[in-house]
Amino acid sequence: MRTAHRTCPLCEAVCGLTLTIDDGGRVTGVRGDDADPFSKGFICPKGASLGRLDDDPDRLSGPLVRRDGEWHEVSWAEAFEAVERGLAPIPGPARALYLGNPNAHTMAGLLYGTPLARSLGTRQIYSASTADQMPKHVSAGLMFGHPLTIPVPDLDRTGYLLMLGANPLESNGSLCTAPDFPGRLKRLRARGGRLVVVDPRRTRTAALADEHVFIRPGTDAHLLMGIVHTLFAENLTDVRVPVSGLAELEAAARDFTAQACARVCGVPAELVTRLARELAAAPTAAVYSRMGASTVEFGTLTQWLVDAVNVLTGNLDRPGGAMFPRPAAEGPPRRKPYATGRWHSRVRGLPEANGELPVATLAEEIETPGEGRIRALVTVAGNPVLSAPNGTRLDAALAGLDFMVSVDPYLNETTRHAHVILPPPRVVQSAHYDFALLGLAVRDYARFSPPVVPLDDGRPAEAEIFARLAMIASGQGAGADPALLDELILDQMLRAAVAAPGSPVEGRDPAELRAMLTGATGPELRLDAMLRLGPYGDWGGRLPWGGNGSGEGMSLATLLDNPHGVDIGPLKPRLPALLATASKTVELAPGPILADVPRLREALGREAGGFVLIGRRHLRSNNSWMHNVAPLVGGTNRCTLQINPGDVARLGLGEHAVVRSAAGELTVRLEPTDTIMPGVVSLPHGWGHAGTAQLVAAKNAGVSANALTDESVVDPLSGNAVFNGVPVTLSPA
Ligand code: SF4
Repeated sequence: MRTAHRTCPLCEAVCGLTLTIDDGGRVTGVRGDDADPFSKGFICPKGASLGRLDDDPDRLSGPLVRRDGEWHEVSWAEAFEAVERGLAPIPGPARALYLGNPNAHTMAGLLYGTPLARSLGTRQIYSASTADQMPKHVSAGLMFGHPLTIPVPDLDRTGYLLMLGANPLESNGSLCTAPDFPGRLKRLRARGGRLVVVDPRRTRTAALADEHVFIRPGTDAHLLMGIVHTLFAENLTDVRVPVSGLAELEAAARDFTAQACARVCGVPAELVTRLARELAAAPTAAVYSRMGASTVEFGTLTQWLVDAVNVLTGNLDRPGGAMFPRPAAEGPPRRKPYATGRWHSRVRGLPEANGELPVATLAEEIETPGEGRIRALVTVAGNPVLSAPNGTRLDAALAGLDFMVSVDPYLNETTRHAHVILPPPRVVQSAHYDFALLGLAVRDYARFSPPVVPLDDGRPAEAEIFARLAMIASGQGAGADPALLDELILDQMLRAAVAAPGSPVEGRDPAELRAMLTGATGPELRLDAMLRLGPYGDWGGRLPWGGNGSGEGMSLATLLDNPHGVDIGPLKPRLPALLATASKTVELAPGPILADVPRLREALGREAGGFVLIGRRHLRSNNSWMHNVAPLVGGTNRCTLQINPGDVARLGLGEHAVVRSAAGELTVRLEPTDTIMPGVVSLPHGWGHAGTAQLVAAKNAGVSANALTDESVVDPLSGNAVFNGVPVTLSPA
């Protein structure tokens, strides 16, 4: 028995874990790492089940190849050769890549996703981002100049938090990395702060708040526009950062009076004006919004207005407001202003955002004949049959592909369509660094976790699987040396750094820098380079990080010396230096966003009527991929349709009901509860496990909410799928 420390990779909270490992390399115990300066011992039920997930007997132990409908276990060399045979005849534009949500939690996913996409030679890149947070990326890109320049609420210092469509007591936070998010909210209230939650359900987070406001799904943008209108109308604005477009924003909000907005939102007009006044009067305040207000028809407008209110109330980029983290591995600043729509999807003409096309268009891009039709698909850590809108249609489309390869630990609803499945090693066999999530953390912090258990003989690391796929896709063949890819990327990174004016290594010799790097693998060498070049790096980073008091700059060695993580400190103001917009100001009225405001204005006249469907998050679930872990299914974690008891009585429903939408129909078990507002029903997504080799999941199959969601409706600015506010009808089963 031994103990080991590592970051939990199961959600965005990046908690430190202390693992007990037996002689056979099995994880026999998991507890929170008390010495982690960020998570301080916090752990949730998912983290506590890491050992069960890691040791799941249904995980694939080796690669599979499908021939004539039968799965065969093959060697890794045979599997990569099968990938080469399948991919080589298909030209780049007819290939596609889908990256699932867990890619954001692995080093390999973050380091090799872009090289793999480039090697495939296609613009058909899809990911879970357009089923989740693309509206935030687009609004951040247009307002601040970079899609990853996303402000987070300064949870530990704020005096007032307005939260829309977010439920961190279940999710543990999203686009806001904060271990023990629930504890941070309780401490906010304990120090006299105020928490207001806006949600169509009285969630556990809402129950904790000082005030919960029921709102009709999909109308958060109207509520926020009503707040913006009030701030201007009552002369409550207090802009403290350099901005452009203030007058245009005021003009855009002119028609959105509190009364007009309140009607469409289903809230009292006095509440809209009171929220505006409270935000303006609070010593510090932040508005924060997530999934429930992102995956809606006005997703990008909502996310724009969140930060517009933060600016107008003087709370953007100040302690206690909404602030920009400064991660240790932060890349160089963006040089070109952000834009979307640089190309469009072939069938529906939807715009690209962040180099991706909307997952809502994937099925039709596979089905529709013509030049550029997708004939080959690579999926990595994704199960879009359960997580994409109208998964039923996508399921059928995938069956018609000429070739599909999946990197995934499971044979599941999506990977069953693959011709080759390449399973990554166990979680504890991979090194970990959160390239994406530390850029969203409420404190500047860094932690690296080396592998806890060595790889089995002959088994490639996840990074090697990615690198081999990239080399096959670029025509270098199944036998090419994956280390060459890392060296090529390192060389490009170092050459760009020494050539960049103002870089800490400007003018130095890339070969000399390469010789200084340490790390046991390609990903570790690349992390070392990023840390040394970063804002606290030992290659001339200009900020003290102060963690161990040594005054040394950050490198991989620093993090290896600090296995519980390094606390760099509270967030600090970063504007205007961080801004990468053409104007070098915060753009309050970007052209593409203003052009979408008339659609929001038109919706002011809508009458509420009929039922709408929304999603739901559970503490012991994260999309579809933890449903094969027995301790995480069952109990309250159920695939039921929550509905207001008054609606059950009015419609004469029994235990089950038939729910119909434009996309399909389901028979679902009802869960009457007065925590959901009348006219709204809620079904969690990621369920509908049937006919796969995941035995626990199959026993707790549930139904797929994405049999009801409609792929033809998207947020037009980001292409994000609409999962909340889907019109449905209900009838007795
Ligand atoms: S909150 Fe997230 S990171 Fe923390 S233990 Fe739970 S799943 Fe892991």
